[in-house]
Amino acid sequence: MADQNQKDERYKARQQKIKEEVDARVDAAQQEKGLFLIITGNGKGKSTSGFGTIARAVGHGQKCGVGQFIKGTWDCGERALLEQHGVNFAVMATGFTWETQNKEADTQAAQSTWAECKIMLADDSYDVVLLDELTYMVTYGYIELEEVLEAIQNRPAMQSVVVTGRGAHRSLIEMADTVSEVRNVKHAFESGIKARKGVDW
Ligand code: ATP
Ligand code: MG
Repeated sequence: MADQNQKDERYKARQQKIKEEVDARVDAAQQEKGLFLIITGNGKGKSTSGFGTIARAVGHGQKCGVGQFIKGTWDCGERALLEQHGVNFAVMATGFTWETQNKEADTQAAQSTWAECKIMLADDSYDVVLLDELTYMVTYGYIELEEVLEAIQNRPAMQSVVVTGRGAHRSLIEMADTVSEVRNVKHAFESGIKARKGVDW
């Protein structure tokens, strides 16, 4: 019995120490500013995470915008929902880049969506802006990296930005406040299972 009491005491002391450390870190984190987040990696869950952030912000009555840089021709469940809640969408209407095979048309489509995004990134009435699949536009050279860095750097101080897509450029990762990499453990597609409405788009 005495043994158990000792264990309980040690447990309590350990938990108390953890609590003090966490409290100290929470107290130290006093800076208030909009965040720049990147969700990258090869696993599934990047866009769903980005849209989850938008849903979270909309739930708090915040103003949000979304730029979609690849899947414009898909009927996107999040868009159908979020537009009803006042979220502004800028959608690249050409669909998958590797389907169109036309660099000039793709560049033009990317540029025109990017122009709409830049307006949101310069407007301090937007609380959160999602740039879904933006990383590919930089990788393919449709949008200049420098332009992206500049627009995000110069955005309103309280505005948060989420960028999703595989292979985020090193400079974007350096600039971001929070970067998460989604790792592929396995994916249904590899077992020949079809993409599913409501889960995959
Ligand atoms: P989601 O939109 O489901 O969050 P994502 O944004 O992480 O996925 P994308 O690369 O944008 O991933 O691809 C979107 C589509 O491709 C989805 O239908 C998703 O299920 C599928 N997908 C994502 N990762 C993989 C993978 N590792 N293998 C096969 N298909 C994938
Ligand atoms: Mg995605």
